[in-house]
Amino acid sequence: MPEPELQTETTAQDQQAIRQSVRELCRDFPDTYWRKVDKAEEYPEAFVNAVTKSGYLAALIPEEYGGAGMGITEASIILEEINGAGASSGACHAQMYTMGTLLRHGNEEQKRRYLPQIARGELRLQAFAVTEPNSGSEATRIQTRAVRKGDRYIVNGQKIFISRVKQSDLMLLLARTTPYDDVKDKTQGISVFIVDMRNVRGKLDVQPLDMMVNHHTNSVFFEDVEVPAENLIGEEGRGFSYIIDGWNAERILIASEAIGDGRWFINRAVAYARDRVLFGKPIGANQGIQFPIAQAYARIEAADLMRFQAAAKFDRREKCGAEANMAKLLASEAAWEAANICLTTHGGYGFAREYDVERKFRETRLLTIAPVSNNLILAFLGNKVRDCRSRTDLKPKNW
Ligand SMILES: Cc1cc2nc3c(=O)[nH]c(=O)nc-3n(C[C@H](O)[C@H](O)[C@H](O)COP(=O)(O)OP(=O)(O)OC[C@H]3O[C@@H](n4cnc5c(N)ncnc54)[C@H](O)[C@@H]3O)c2cc1C
Repeated sequence: MPEPELQTETTAQDQQAIRQSVRELCRDFPDTYWRKVDKAEEYPEAFVNAVTKSGYLAALIPEEYGGAGMGITEASIILEEINGAGASSGACHAQMYTMGTLLRHGNEEQKRRYLPQIARGELRLQAFAVTEPNSGSEATRIQTRAVRKGDRYIVNGQKIFISRVKQSDLMLLLARTTPYDDVKDKTQGISVFIVDMRNVRGKLDVQPLDMMVNHHTNSVFFEDVEVPAENLIGEEGRGFSYIIDGWNAERILIASEAIGDGRWFINRAVAYARDRVLFGKPIGANQGIQFPIAQAYARIEAADLMRFQAAAKFDRREKCGAEANMAKLLASEAAWEAANICLTTHGGYGFAREYDVERKFRETRLLTIAPVSNNLILAFLGNKVRDCRSRTDLKPKNW
């Protein structure tokens, strides 16, 4: 194994430049923009187009396929800055989450077919279909079936809570190619497909769900949907392990979004606590307001350290399952704490849409549940991370 690259001063400068550039991009999309799309439940098309044009959504696509060839550290900084600017990465983050499966397990032909077009913004890979009504967090219990017939697979089944289906050209789909009862190892018999939704053969019925956050989330029904066999990623039946491979990246990216949210809440709470004068002094002079903000700030900063530790290990291709999961857990909870104190600090005004606190409050709450519930992270830490010193028993691999 080659020696891992150490972070250099230049890298730190590059990261600062990324931060600056994402902040500038987000300045064109102020609070009023996000308030409007949230209220109208519109997809933030102009924002997603701008992030795509900037090349940031292709951060993880290698340069040879037209992307920026960045690491997860830089990708996480991009999402952090987006959320820290009051925007919502939820509109487009799946393109980063799904990338690992295609990069590590897709064949050369698939990469050449899709990645350059995704990098140029001509194709969107924004839909990732895992969750089902009868399986939920127990993903090996999925029932959507893909049955091979000659040169294609016929897909039947149902997914729930699948975001951005109507805004995406491609969907990464997890389906069973062997029924649950027919496999000894329940992680086997699951396959991953790229479904090209631009011209579907069979019936793909997408039913929007009325949700608390503006994520364009749907129920999706597959009725004899035909997927060409060439769109199977990797080997048939091994898809679950490919998805698990990408989970560490997903956890780190979610942690970063939460940290961005957390900083936004702290900044807004501090500004309001300074400005709002009652009983002859700013409300921030009261410990009842000041201390919870300070506490939330400390927790965000601590979670940020875990995020960077996880990201650095990931980029060095070291095992990082424990760190990635802890980063997601700590950051999402710290952000939620910051959201609460930000709302408390604003009093009744926190409920008024024009302050944007209630929108971010709803958005950040999601991060404790999706894409994985924090209980499942605690279960992972409790069951899989037995040896705190050496953590030799950790299974997850990086992509
Ligand atoms: C806005 C939104 C967007 C989403 N987008 C997508 C998407 O694009 N693609 C996709 O595939 N999915 C998506 N999801 C689904 C999301 O990943 C799931 O909601 C999440 O994984 C939890 O699954 P569930 O809702 O079925 O809850 P369940 O699995 O039914 O869990 C319910 C509760 O029980 C707890 N629980 C379950 N098992 C245990 C256990 N063993 N120990 C302790 N507690 C347990 C959970 O932590 C949770 O609190 C989205 C969800 C939302 C809300």
